[in-house]
Amino acid sequence: MARSPSRRHHAVVIGSGLAGLCAARVLADHFERVTVLERDRPSDDETPRKGAPQGGQAHALLKRGERILERLFPGFVDEIEDRGAHLFDFGSGVRWLHHGVWKARFDSRFPVHVQTRPLVEGRVRARLQANPRLGFRYGCTVEGLETEGHRITGVAIREARGARSVIAADLVVDASGRGSRLPAWLEAMGLAAPREDRFDVDLCYATRMYEAPEDMPADWRALLIYGQPPYQTRTGFLFPVEGGRWLVTLVGYLGDHPPADAAGFDRFAASLPSDELSRAIAGARPLGPVRRYRFTHAAQRRYDRLRRLPEGLLALGDAVCSFDPVFGQGMTMAARNAELLDHHLRRGRLRPRRWFRALRRMNAVPWVLAATEGLRFPQLAGCRPPGLGLLQAYCRRVFRLCGHDTAVYRRFLRVLQMVAGPWILFHPRVVWAVLRHRDRPRPLRTGKRPLALLEAGHR
Ligand SMILES: Cc1cc2nc3c(=O)[nH]c(=O)nc-3n(C[C@H](O)[C@H](O)[C@H](O)COP(=O)(O)OP(=O)(O)OC[C@H]3O[C@@H](n4cnc5c(N)ncnc54)[C@H](O)[C@@H]3O)c2cc1C
Repeated sequence: MARSPSRRHHAVVIGSGLAGLCAARVLADHFERVTVLERDRPSDDETPRKGAPQGGQAHALLKRGERILERLFPGFVDEIEDRGAHLFDFGSGVRWLHHGVWKARFDSRFPVHVQTRPLVEGRVRARLQANPRLGFRYGCTVEGLETEGHRITGVAIREARGARSVIAADLVVDASGRGSRLPAWLEAMGLAAPREDRFDVDLCYATRMYEAPEDMPADWRALLIYGQPPYQTRTGFLFPVEGGRWLVTLVGYLGDHPPADAAGFDRFAASLPSDELSRAIAGARPLGPVRRYRFTHAAQRRYDRLRRLPEGLLALGDAVCSFDPVFGQGMTMAARNAELLDHHLRRGRLRPRRWFRALRRMNAVPWVLAATEGLRFPQLAGCRPPGLGLLQAYCRRVFRLCGHDTAVYRRFLRVLQMVAGPWILFHPRVVWAVLRHRDRPRPLRTGKRPLALLEAGHR
C-alpha cells in the first residue's frame, strides 16, 4: 500500500455511479477501508437504476475508458463480451452520417465494444463487491459534511428508514453526479460556492429497445445519424446490445425534443437527416415503451477557482463536470478522473486546490471539443472565444474529409475515442488535406434553405 504523511484509514465515496465506483477501486489501494454510500439500490447488469436514470439511454464507452476499466478490473472486457457486448470494427461496422457526409467505410482495425450502461456499471460493481477493503451502503443518502475547523471529518447520512447518523472519514470524495449538493454544503460552512460554466443545450433523449431482426442489414452493425448544426437539431443512434436487441436513441437539441409516445417516436426518427434509421426500425419489433431523459445543460463547476477549500474533501465525475452527452465522454472521463486520483495519491498528500486544478486541466480538452460543436448553434448562449469560427470551419472540413480520406478518418477516430489528443488533427498531413479540400455543403434533405430551417427551429 502506498504510504503518505496523511492518515489513510478510512475514505468515504458519495455515490456509486461510474465515477464513484472507479474512485473506490483506486482508493482501496491507498486506504485501509473504503465505504461507498449510495442512496439507490444496487444495480444489476440489465436494469437502469432510479438513481442514475440516464442509464436507460445509449451509453457509448470510448476506447480510452474501456482500456482504463480493463486496467482497473482485469478481465472486464472478457466479462462484458461473455454477457453479450458486441464487438466490431468501427470503420467498417458503423454507418455514420456526420456534417452532411457519410463517413468512409473501411477496415480501420479499430475494434469497439457496444453494450448498455447497466452492463458496464453492473460488471464494475460486481468486481468491487468482492474487494475486502470495500464496503457498500445502499439506501443511504448523504445529507451534509461533518467538519472540524476547515477539515472535513466525515459525512452526515440518512438511511432508507429515516435513521440519521455520522460516518467519520479521513477523506470524503463526492461522486454524486450532476445533482451534487457540494456547492450548498460549502456555503453552509461559510465558504464560497463554485462558479458554474454552462451551456444550455436543452436536449432530450428518447430511447426504445427493439428485437434485432433475424435478417439484420449485412453492411453495418451500428447507425449514427447526426444532425448538421446549426441547421438540424435532430440526431439518432442505433446500437446492437446484449440479448439480441437494438437500442435506438433519438436526440433533439434546443427544445426540439423527441416525443414520448410510439407514433411520435417513429415520426421523429423519420425526420432525421437520413431515413436509414427509420427504415431499419420499421420492420423491427419494439420490446418496450419509449424512455425519455431531459438534459438541460452541460455544466462545469469551477472548484479550481475557489480560494478556500476544506482539507479532506475531493470531488470528481459529473459532480464537477457534466459533459454534453452526445459526445459519449462522461464514463470515460469518470475513469480518467479515477486514474488521476491514483496518481495524486501515489505522489503523497492530497491537496484539494492542486486536485481541482489538475482535474480542470484534464476535463478542459473534452469540454472544449464538445463546446466547439455545441456553439455552432447561434441560439446557444456561451462565451465565443476569438478564433472559434476558424476552429469550427477547420473541424467541419476534417469531419467531411472523413468521407473519403481514410488516413484523416483514422486520426479523427483516435481523437474521438480519446486514445490520442486533438493535436494529431493538426499534423501537416491533415492541414494540407484540409487546405486542399473544397468544402461544398450538400443540400439538406428537407430541401429548405438553411436559414429558413433555423428560423423555423426545424421542428
Ligand atoms: C442522456 C445521457 C446520455 C449519456 N450518454 C453517455 C455516453 O454515451 N457515454 C458516456 O461515457 N457517458 C454518457 N453519459 C454520461 C454518464 O452517464 C456519466 O457521465 C457517467 O456515468 C459518470 O457519472 P457519475 O458517476 O459522475 O454520476 P452518476 O452516474 O449520476 O452517479 C451518481 C450517483 O450518486 C448517487 N447519489 C446522488 N446523490 C447522493 C447522495 N446525496 N447520497 C448518496 N448517493 C447519492 C446517485 O444515486 C447515483 O448513483 C450520458 C449522460 C446522459 C445524461
